[in-house]
Amino acid sequence: MIYNKSIKAFKESRGLIPGGVNSPVRAFKSVNCDPVFFDYGDGSKLYDLDGNEYIDCISSWGPLIFGHADKITQSKISEYLRKGTTYGAPTIIESEMAKKIIELVPSIEKVRMVNSGTEATMSAIRLARGYTSRNLILKFSGNYHGHGDSFLIKAGSGAMTLGLPDSPGVTKNTAKDTIIADFNSFESVSEQFKKNPEKIAAVIIEPVAGNMGLVESRKDFLIGLRRLCDENKSLLIFDEVMSGFRLSKGGAQELYGVLPDITTLGKIIGGGLPVGAYGGKSEIMDYLAPNGPVYQAGTLSGNPLAMSAGLSVLNRLNDELYEKLESISKKIHEGFLQNIHETGTNAIINRAGSMMTLFFTDNNKIENYNDAITCNLEKYAKYFKSMLDEGVYLPPSQFECMFISSVYSEKDIDKIIYSNKKSLQSI
Ligand SMILES: *Cc1c(COP(=O)(O)O)cnc(C)c1O
Repeated sequence: MIYNKSIKAFKESRGLIPGGVNSPVRAFKSVNCDPVFFDYGDGSKLYDLDGNEYIDCISSWGPLIFGHADKITQSKISEYLRKGTTYGAPTIIESEMAKKIIELVPSIEKVRMVNSGTEATMSAIRLARGYTSRNLILKFSGNYHGHGDSFLIKAGSGAMTLGLPDSPGVTKNTAKDTIIADFNSFESVSEQFKKNPEKIAAVIIEPVAGNMGLVESRKDFLIGLRRLCDENKSLLIFDEVMSGFRLSKGGAQELYGVLPDITTLGKIIGGGLPVGAYGGKSEIMDYLAPNGPVYQAGTLSGNPLAMSAGLSVLNRLNDELYEKLESISKKIHEGFLQNIHETGTNAIINRAGSMMTLFFTDNNKIENYNDAITCNLEKYAKYFKSMLDEGVYLPPSQFECMFISSVYSEKDIDKIIYSNKKSLQSI
């Protein structure tokens, strides 16, 4: 494939935007090539500046569950666009959105809208700290919760890819209020509770982690976490920015049957526009201003344009959709497994519904951060580049997942599997 226009565009953007991109992983640094610049998307496909066509396996990191340029979302947005974009004042569509979220997510009784996943997690831990009058937050290594200061510690994906486990600019005083445990290790959490009695405000976790590649929690682990939080009067926060509305209507909490005190949401909830949310028990949520003492606000929060886009997606979530996503994803998964076997590649696949990662590793399982870092990143880079040349757009990092959309055709699925085989053979 010829990427001339993308290469030229990147050269220019690098002089204007730090690293040429507005979010680090887009720069393709960990796969050793220049990023592709896109012109437009349509259904399952993306088209770059040079006119190359790709099957999109990222879906803008999750949101586009109905593919690109979805007609229903477009028409909802235009309907609201005619009436303006934002009033900085209450609208009915915000209550419609809240009602829908409360209906879908089992543990949410009240919900506050924000503008990104990062904002949701930052606000959620402020609320947890305010509500419990405690300072410490416990997070898991390899989990990513956005770029808030408190979270940039063993933070997965972007930070992991670039080898920046901690970021300069995060003060020691902030960092010391975040303590770390190992994902899927009940003992490591239990130990932290013993070491820090009555100090942990909240445990925050990606119940299905997507930011060290796809890694699911074990069910007994999540049940154990719930119990430990209850015993220690700490709040349990599920960061479902990725897993929410993707794994099922009610997210990971519905699948596992384990309910958190606070849930953070993002990605799919905006239908492709910038939206985040956090919600939970009324008693906790009412601790927020103007009812309660914990302050959190947003000029554009809940703006009708973003709400209309989000609702256009949430209103279409039903069992049929998740069955379709499962059936498409399963075909790809099985095709890849066969290819791995036939090419004698040392690799394994983790998949939860329509989230999936192919790990190049000699391990026979990836259950946590330490397992994930055994992967062969050079191999992933070669694989990525080969898939790109074949017209399949994968996440440009071993530590991210594929997000499969519901609009793949049989032909798309066949092409993804065929390209995978060709690429595994060539690396
Ligand atoms: C993407 C992500 C975030 C951050 O969301 P942004 O909208 O990028 O700020 C937080 N938590 C998880 C689990 C995510 O996947």
